Amino acid sequence: MSVSKNYARIRREIPDHVTIVVSCKTRTPEEITEVIDAGATDIGENYVQEGGQIYSALKDAAKVRWHMIGSLQTNKINKALRIFDAIQTVESLPKAIAIDRRVERARKQRVPIYIEINIGSENSKAGVKPAEHEPFDDYIENLVRNISKLEHIRLEGLMTMGPRFGNPEDVRPYFRRTKKIFEKIKTLPLPNIDMKYLSMGMTNSYRVAIEEGSNMIRIGTLIFGERRYE
Ligand SMILES: *Cc1c(COP(=O)(O)O)cnc(C)c1O
Repeated sequence: MSVSKNYARIRREIPDHVTIVVSCKTRTPEEITEVIDAGATDIGENYVQEGGQIYSALKDAAKVRWHMIGSLQTNKINKALRIFDAIQTVESLPKAIAIDRRVERARKQRVPIYIEINIGSENSKAGVKPAEHEPFDDYIENLVRNISKLEHIRLEGLMTMGPRFGNPEDVRPYFRRTKKIFEKIKTLPLPNIDMKYLSMGMTNSYRVAIEEGSNMIRIGTLIFGERRYE
């Protein structure tokens, strides 16, 4: 099947309120152009360098929203701010502050950020690990409170990868826990927070993720096929 057909099939299958972020790592500008022509509205990139190259190579780059979904090193924040509309991978207060300062210096409007939760507390993955910060509800509330004081970013969601299992059913409890954290943050009476997006679910897990309350899935393989290199 072609890229555009694959995208259209997923779009038809899932509810309208769920945003598809097309995960573009290792893909060519031609492949990405094809998916944008098929109606894709949101593009996800893991690398600032690759994102910049693709952005410049695309005619319609400014028509879509760009999401940073890979780890963002502090020394790449300025460059990232020139490309990305949202940064989904904030994993600490120092990182949030670093982004906030650079947005201020660049005199840009508030930048939407999401906190990345490493819901399986896996050492191989980035994100805030619940197992390292118990009781986690208190830790996350404190983090959110501090982020809400920053004037140049706005917390708009949570992102999680979740452990990878052969059977996507096995990730369900992790998604459920992430959704609970998301709902808890929503109830906090804090300024500069607008919890709109729960970014969870990938090629092998998006159905389960949507059932557990995700409204933003990040899909690469199911649209483009297996990655040729990583
Ligand atoms: C690569 C990647 C995806 C997409 O994964 P697929 O299994 O190819 O759909 C989603 N989110 C992040 C953070 C990724 O790095």
